[in-house]
Amino acid sequence: MPTVIIDGQKVEVERDATVLDAAKKAGVWIPTLCYHPAVSISGSCRVCMVELDRGDWRQLITACNYPVRRDIVVYISSDRAERARRGVMELLLARSPESPELKELAERMGVKSTPYPTVTESQRSCILCGLCIAVCEDIIGKAAIGYAGRGVDRTVASPFRQPSEDCIGCGACAAVCPVGTIKVRVHEEQEEVEISPFKSRGKLLVCEQCRAPIVSTQVGEQALGKVEMNREEFRELMRLCPKCRRSKTAARLEAGNIDKQRGGRVVS
Ligand code: SF4
Repeated sequence: MPTVIIDGQKVEVERDATVLDAAKKAGVWIPTLCYHPAVSISGSCRVCMVELDRGDWRQLITACNYPVRRDIVVYISSDRAERARRGVMELLLARSPESPELKELAERMGVKSTPYPTVTESQRSCILCGLCIAVCEDIIGKAAIGYAGRGVDRTVASPFRQPSEDCIGCGACAAVCPVGTIKVRVHEEQEEVEISPFKSRGKLLVCEQCRAPIVSTQVGEQALGKVEMNREEFRELMRLCPKCRRSKTAARLEAGNIDKQRGGRVVS
C-alpha cells in the first residue's frame, strides 16, 4: 500500500485512493465544495488545493481527485497551499456572496471578505462546481441540466434555458448544491413542485388525507419500477404521507386489523 506523508504525518492508503482520502484517514481537514463521494469527481471548484512534493519543486494539486499510486509527500498547511485555497475562496465569495454555506466555509478557512467585485443576481450565485450536473446524470440517470454560456455568462441551465422534459423533480440537485442556489419550491395550491432556477415543474403526489406533498409523480413512477414490492401495495403506500400512514397504522393496530403475515402492513 502506498504511503502519504501529510504535513509530516504518515498514513497508508489503498492504491488509487485520493489525497483527500489520505487526509481523512490522518484526521486532517481539507475544505471541499464540489466533492461528493457518490459522483464522479471533477475537482472543478479548486478549494481543496494542496502542495505535492515533486523533489526539487512543488506542484499545486486538487486533493479530491489526485490518485495515490506511489509514496508521496503533500503539504496542506504550507503558506502556498493555504494562500491558493484562500484565493479560490475569495473568488467564490465574489460569485456567491450571500450563501450562508459558503460564508461558513470561508470563515473556517480564515477568509473574512473578498477583494473582488461581487455579483448579486440570484442566477450568478451558482459557483459552477457542477455537482448538480453530475448527480442528475450519475445518480438519477437523467441529463436535465448542463453548463450553458461562456465566460462570465457561464451558468448551469436546462437545455435552451427552458423547463426540461427530462427533469423528474426529484430535488437531488438541490440536495447536493453546496451553496444553496438550487431550490425545490412546492406550489401547494397547484399541487406542483418547481426546481428553481431551472423552471422545471412537475405534478406532486399529495397525501389523500392531509394534502401534504409527498414526492413528484414522476419520482413516484420511477420508484414504482424499482421497489421490491407488489405494485398495488406500493401505490397504497404512496397514497398517504408518512405522518398519516403512521396514525392509520396505529389506529388499525389498536383495532387489531393488521395482517401480521405481511410484515404488519395495513391491508384494508
Ligand atoms: S430535480 Fe431535475 S434537474 Fe435536479 S437532479 Fe432531479 S432530474 Fe435532475
